[in-house]
Amino acid sequence: MTEPFFILLMRLVTGIVLGGILGSFITMLVYRLPRSKSLITPGSSCPSCRKVIGWPDLVPVYSYWKLKGKCRHCGKPFGQRYLIIEIVSVVAVTLAFLIYGFGAEALVVIFIFLIVCTLWNILERQGKGD
Ligand SMILES: [Zn+2]
Repeated sequence: MTEPFFILLMRLVTGIVLGGILGSFITMLVYRLPRSKSLITPGSSCPSCRKVIGWPDLVPVYSYWKLKGKCRHCGKPFGQRYLIIEIVSVVAVTLAFLIYGFGAEALVVIFIFLIVCTLWNILERQGKGD
């Protein structure tokens, strides 16, 4: 680790932000792909009350912590799976950037993580109903 401090900081911050966004994207895929729902519209909504989840409640990890993992409208808990996916994603993307920098290798690792994490969660949740 001979990189200047600000490069490490950039990789760390980018990893946390992109990891959160990617984790959020993966939870969307894990929920919608098995149900043959559109990946584009509508926006995220509560699986229980169907109310649209607004922007401040979509911030990965933070919103889960702020709302204690429950829907703002109906109070039904979201599965812990979503939080775990987001945290694992933040860690994976941050590590990819710290180890490989902002190059093609990091993108390949992140892409593989996206595929494996999505498929594993889709297969693993079948029959559990969360
Ligand atoms: Zn709800």
